[in-house]
Amino acid sequence: MPRHFHPATPATPARWIALAAVVVVLAALAFGALRFLGAGPAPTGTDRSALTSSATGASGATAAAGRATSAAPSTAPASAPSAPAVDPKTGRHSTLGGLVPDYVLPPIENGMVPVLTRIPTEQKVVFLTIDDGAVKRESDLALLEKNGIKASLFLAHTFIAGHSDFYRAYLDAGHLIEDHTMTHNLGFINLPYDQVKAEICGMADYEQKYFGRRPVFFRPPGGPYTMAVRQAAAECGMKAIVDWEAKANAESMQYQVGDTLRPGDIVLMHFRPEFPADLAAFTKAQKAAGLKVVLLEDYLGVK
Ligand SMILES: [Zn+2]
Repeated sequence: MPRHFHPATPATPARWIALAAVVVVLAALAFGALRFLGAGPAPTGTDRSALTSSATGASGATAAAGRATSAAPSTAPASAPSAPAVDPKTGRHSTLGGLVPDYVLPPIENGMVPVLTRIPTEQKVVFLTIDDGAVKRESDLALLEKNGIKASLFLAHTFIAGHSDFYRAYLDAGHLIEDHTMTHNLGFINLPYDQVKAEICGMADYEQKYFGRRPVFFRPPGGPYTMAVRQAAAECGMKAIVDWEAKANAESMQYQVGDTLRPGDIVLMHFRPEFPADLAAFTKAQKAAGLKVVLLEDYLGVK
């Protein structure tokens, strides 16, 4: 730059620069104020919903899990009273009643879904799962409703094919339908990988088509699983294999550990002729243990 430009214009540029600086500062302040007023509250809301939706997405599970774990304790008191009763995406009423879960579903690791038999929590919740679909009676749904209980139904195609309308009534009432294979083959874990995957993906596709919701949980027939089953479940879009630690069976409760229901237990029941007596055994144990029945999907933030 030519040196003589500086001494030639000493005073005026300095004033211009000062004036320009004032304008820039004012503009910056105004911009900041606008952001604060207009967009200020949005990041909090966006963050929260992003966290919720990424927790329900398969790929974002790792990041969401970490964030949710660290965020949960500090946000719990503030968000508990204002937790929405109705999910804006699904229109479903949450069964949590404002409870903020203290457990986060582990992510898919090494291509395999996690396996749950209970939730390691001291929160006073218990989860009911009802399997198969061999017996179909409207009175069973009415009984669940009468007791104010929502359950996760693990249904197999072989039992429910041609009866999708019957089970849609459960969805309409706020229950959720999960994946329990196409054929309910009790030798499932010994099948070739392609067949294992076809059993899981086929039922997920069926449920998506007839119930308008793709399942997020898988339960193998009879309960046993292998690493290949965990991998196939992940490839079919499942987020966990869900087994159990307690059963309502043959009109009484059966426990794998202890002799009462514990917080976080996942309970297995079936649509069988003895459904009313099984449910009565469950509700008796649940009330004795002071536990609230909530949907596992609500508790884990997967829809
Ligand atoms: Zn079964």
